[in-house]
Amino acid sequence: MVDKEKIAKAVEMILEAIGEDLNREGLRETPQRVANMYSEVFAGLKQDPRAPLRTCFTADEHDEIVLVKDISFYSMCEHHLLPFYGKAHIAYIPGEGRIVGLSKLVRVIEIVARRPQLQERLTSTVADIITSELKPKGVVVVVEAEHLCMSIRGVNKPGAITVTSAVRGVFRRNPSSRQEVFSLIKGNRL
Ligand code: ZN
Repeated sequence: MVDKEKIAKAVEMILEAIGEDLNREGLRETPQRVANMYSEVFAGLKQDPRAPLRTCFTADEHDEIVLVKDISFYSMCEHHLLPFYGKAHIAYIPGEGRIVGLSKLVRVIEIVARRPQLQERLTSTVADIITSELKPKGVVVVVEAEHLCMSIRGVNKPGAITVTSAVRGVFRRNPSSRQEVFSLIKGNRL
């Protein structure tokens, strides 16, 4: 379990350090509230992101691309503990006919995102987990996100989107199928 008491103490110290009055009405419950929030946004540390993929089913001879796009996610950048958020897109070609319910892929993203995280690692971790659990012929994971640490501080560039991708298996070897996935991801919305 997350040590909420310790988080609350740390938040008190931060508030003190910036010169705030801990007894001010609006701040009285803040340490506890932040502790509760952190236990929620970092809940993925205690969860196994591979678990959702263990209930896959087999569909004979399906070796076409399966793409789930525009999966919204929220994560916390491990350098600044500020949110980064956006959309993830997952494409794979089943191997040995192993298919997984689409909500399971969403669940994998959610668990990996709910940790102190880097967008690059979020992207490659999800691709690696799908590769080892589903043994697909190929996987592409693309993540597009805005980082509040770039928007509200540092370079101060609100709206800038960082795009990362991880490409595995057949998509790595075959430029035309990789191209197909990227144009499906960019393609017109319904
Ligand atoms: Zn950051």
